[in-house]
Amino acid sequence: MDRGGLDRDPLDPQAIAQRLRARRAELTEISAESAEARKTVELDQTRVGRLSRMDALQGQAMSIATDRRRQAELQRIEKALARLDSGDYGFCLSCGEEIAPKRLKLDPTVAVCVDCAGNI
Ligand SMILES: [Zn+2]
Repeated sequence: MDRGGLDRDPLDPQAIAQRLRARRAELTEISAESAEARKTVELDQTRVGRLSRMDALQGQAMSIATDRRRQAELQRIEKALARLDSGDYGFCLSCGEEIAPKRLKLDPTVAVCVDCAGNI
C-alpha cells in the first residue's frame, strides 16, 4: 500500500465507478418501486371523491417530478461512467480544466468545473 500518494491523487477511478454503479442500482430499484405506486394512483382516481382525487393527482405529480429527477441523475451517472471509461473523467466538459477533486467527491457526476458551473 502506497499511502503517500493518497493526497496527491485522491481520484480513484475504480472507487468512483463502484460508487456510481451502487447509486445507479439504488436509483433503478427505487424507480421501479415507485412506478408501481404511480400506477396505483392512476387506477384509484376512478373511484375516489373529488377532493381525494385532487390529493391523488397532486401526489402523483410529485411522484412524477421526483422520478424525473431520478432519471436525470441516472443519466448523469451513465455519462460519468462513460467518461471514466474513456479517460475524460475529472476534466471540465466546458473548459477542459481539471475539476477539483473535492468537488467530485461531493458529487461524482459533476461534468464541469466550479468556474463553469457558476456561468450556467
Ligand atoms: Zn470549466
